[in-house]
Amino acid sequence: MDANADASTWTEYSAYSVGMSDHHHDHDHDHSELSQTELRVRALETILTEKGYVEPAALDAIIQAYETRIGPHNGARVVAKAWTDPAFKKALLEDATKAVGTLGHVSRVGDHLVAVENTPQRHNMVVCTLCSCYPWEMLGLPPVWYKAAPYRSRAVKDPRGVLADFGVSLPKDIEIRVWDSTAETRFLVLPMRPEGTEGFSEAQLTELVTRDSMIGTGFPKTPGAPS
Ligand code: FE
Repeated sequence: MDANADASTWTEYSAYSVGMSDHHHDHDHDHSELSQTELRVRALETILTEKGYVEPAALDAIIQAYETRIGPHNGARVVAKAWTDPAFKKALLEDATKAVGTLGHVSRVGDHLVAVENTPQRHNMVVCTLCSCYPWEMLGLPPVWYKAAPYRSRAVKDPRGVLADFGVSLPKDIEIRVWDSTAETRFLVLPMRPEGTEGFSEAQLTELVTRDSMIGTGFPKTPGAPS
């Protein structure tokens, strides 16, 4: 498999990678403080509220949940616990939905969660080729590139090339397994515990787990390395 992405794909891909910085830049046109999307959302919210279809308080609760309760810190906690608790790890790999449930997560979209373990022989990577299925409860909102066509189409055809774009290079003898998410089944990658973390507490380990390491497009942070 060719690890080098061709130039055009790279450019296309890099454009999407910009989204990873979480700074969105609109095109160079004049715009008010609210973007077109925000204006549409405001209008829709107003209409729905006026017609009595939604409770503003309920909307606020959902938004707050995504800002605070739901996010990659949930997945990081699961991973760190699996690294420190062999019984939990076994339970997680057997039935992730059930194991995650024991930690008190409210799981709706993660109803059929499958954890896949990275080993020295195998690296796992998650994609949704059809759309953007993603374990929201575990990882929060999906990154822009996860929903973008270049990632979705290339992850299956050229996983090594995609990983190279993310700065992840794996020895040729490591098998890469790509998991295609669906509306029914979401995947969480259990990355390998970084070296040099002997004696780390679960809380310390949680800090090392990155979102991308749980999608399979990155590694956990190494202690002492610049983040
Ligand atoms: Fe999908």
